[in-house]
Amino acid sequence: MASEHPQHPPVSDLLSLDDALEKMLSQVATQCIATRVPLTAAAGRITAVDVTSPVQVPPFDNSAMDGYAVRLADLAAGEPLPVAGKAFAGNPFTGEWPANSCLRIMTGAPVPPGTEAVVMQEQAEVSEQGVRFTAPVKAGQNIRRAGEDVEQGGVVLRAGVRLGAAELPLLASLGVTDVAVYAPLTVAVFSTGDELQPVGTPLQPGQIYDTNRFGVRLMLEQLGCTVVDLGIIPDDPQALRKAFRQADAAADLVISSGGVSVGEADYTKTMLEELGQIGFWKLAIKPGKPFAFGRLANAWFCGLPGNPVSAALTFYQLVQPLIARLTGHTDWKLPPSLKARAATPLKKQPGRLDFQRGIAFTDEQGNLAVRTTGHQGSHIFSSFAQANCFIVLERERGSVAEGEAVTIQPFNHLLGA
Ligand code: AMP
Ligand code: MG
Repeated sequence: MASEHPQHPPVSDLLSLDDALEKMLSQVATQCIATRVPLTAAAGRITAVDVTSPVQVPPFDNSAMDGYAVRLADLAAGEPLPVAGKAFAGNPFTGEWPANSCLRIMTGAPVPPGTEAVVMQEQAEVSEQGVRFTAPVKAGQNIRRAGEDVEQGGVVLRAGVRLGAAELPLLASLGVTDVAVYAPLTVAVFSTGDELQPVGTPLQPGQIYDTNRFGVRLMLEQLGCTVVDLGIIPDDPQALRKAFRQADAAADLVISSGGVSVGEADYTKTMLEELGQIGFWKLAIKPGKPFAFGRLANAWFCGLPGNPVSAALTFYQLVQPLIARLTGHTDWKLPPSLKARAATPLKKQPGRLDFQRGIAFTDEQGNLAVRTTGHQGSHIFSSFAQANCFIVLERERGSVAEGEAVTIQPFNHLLGA
């Protein structure tokens, strides 16, 4: 007879984070539809096609310096050259340019036809006879060439890029008025648990406030998703079935939290088997071991663990890349990992990849260091508010002594300040 309580699988049977990501991402592709939106409505959206430039930048050859436009032949005699006219930014020189003369020119002014170089005014001596140049002059010097920054018709942003403060002003500078982006992903969320109450409701003995829906909703909004919030669902198969059906009909992705850990979620599992193909995974990460992923009749499904730290971590490490894939955000990546010196000892057992919450700082020697936020329990959510990075401790690693090198992963905008 099977034991009354399901057993924890041996550590070696746990699924690694990379394998879990691979398993998830290999199944999905973007289903979002492309629409054209004005630039002013494009913040946070993902480009659906390559964006090309309607113009070249700079639009014309222009001067990089305040100084003098010259033709090299006029310099051969080494005589001072009279100034035959002026070219300003926004006010080009349009007159005749006689032989053996130069033109006064300002930064950004179109270089007059025939200009072979611009000499900066610091290398010019002005006298009654004209201008004498005090340094050798090279062909092309101090001329910004048309199209040198952006070619007309050239790709300025690839498809799959999130439009933010670095991208949108670039498009504005090119005179782009609208851009093809993917429609937002609709995500339904709910929390499961008889003990959960929404904020604003007094707590009865044994009840706690629902943390996860708050965090998940916020992160989804930051990822540009449209959120359908189904609230708190009690631990009751009928109510859960109804919620899953409703969520599946309303969304492209359904995210629940709670009820996926060993020993208490058997009916959730049975019910999800009835409603779709869901894998219940035991991940070799800490926190966040239990995680469910699969397909409902219409939508994809992620079941986050109930513990708030585990829920936030699995969302960040697994659901975030899934959403990137589903929204066509092919350019998505986490900030680069860095090496830092552990400024405090870090407790760890070998067996799982550990994402401890850390505070990265520059030490007195100017080197990157990190200290722990303290207690790393999966219910200590305040650790996120103190931290600015994950300290990523390799699966087989044990405790870390002060001074050892560790890998840190700085938080991105979902968790960062
Ligand atoms: P479960 O995965 O349902 O067994 O939940 C594991 C732990 O997380 C329990 O202590 C739950 O009370 C807690 N928990 C589950 N869901 C939430 C939530 N939405 N907010 C805060 N704590 C939760
Ligand atoms: Mg529960």
